[in-house]
Amino acid sequence: MNHPKNESTLVLIKPDGVQRSLIGEIIGRYERVGLKLIAMKMIVVTREFIEEFYTLDPEWKLKTGEKNLKAYKDKGLTNTHNDPIEVASFILEKLKIYYTSGPIVAMVWEGAHAVAVVRKLTGSTEPVMSDVGTIRGDFVLDSYKMADDDLRSIRNLVHASGSVKEAEAEVGHWFSEQEIIKYRHVQEKILYDVNIDGIEE
Ligand code: GDP
Ligand code: MG
Repeated sequence: MNHPKNESTLVLIKPDGVQRSLIGEIIGRYERVGLKLIAMKMIVVTREFIEEFYTLDPEWKLKTGEKNLKAYKDKGLTNTHNDPIEVASFILEKLKIYYTSGPIVAMVWEGAHAVAVVRKLTGSTEPVMSDVGTIRGDFVLDSYKMADDDLRSIRNLVHASGSVKEAEAEVGHWFSEQEIIKYRHVQEKILYDVNIDGIEE
């Protein structure tokens, strides 16, 4: 059985994260929890690359559209569209503009339950509802309504894979095998080794 410490996930610091000078702050949050950085690059992408990225998961449109409609309903607001696929198609067009507006920092983080831990530290999609203490909750204040009314993507600083399956496909989309560095980090001993006795007799 694969040990949980071998799980990895994709993180992208989106163009607004780079422009807000938050690269170091964001990396520090994933680093200090104990995750290991195993790949990193700064990259400018095309619209086609982003279309492919968000359609890796055939369910993404439905899930994202439904999440948007639920957020409106929960706040007693009405969206001008009510078909989730239509809503997500609009979101995807805006995402292409957002992601191609400047450089992105792409990373792969490895460690126990990496996908869930990174999502927890990142916070929920809509920054105005993200918990205090998360990246999206602490550093940005965007909302579905404001972004939709202004015909743009929600600016939420980072992308983080939503599931282990999503992470596998997404890492493959952004990185070649040669770009992923397998190495042992000294802190893994204290995080994962069964015997941590360091007392000298
Ligand atoms: P994530 O996994 O939390 O990033 O959220 P999704 O996968 O559902 O959506 C991808 C990205 O699209 C989000 O991070 C936002 O930048 C943007 N986005 C998602 N939903 C909406 C929306 O309802 N309206 C707008 N304007 N942008 C959205
Ligand atoms: Mg997502």
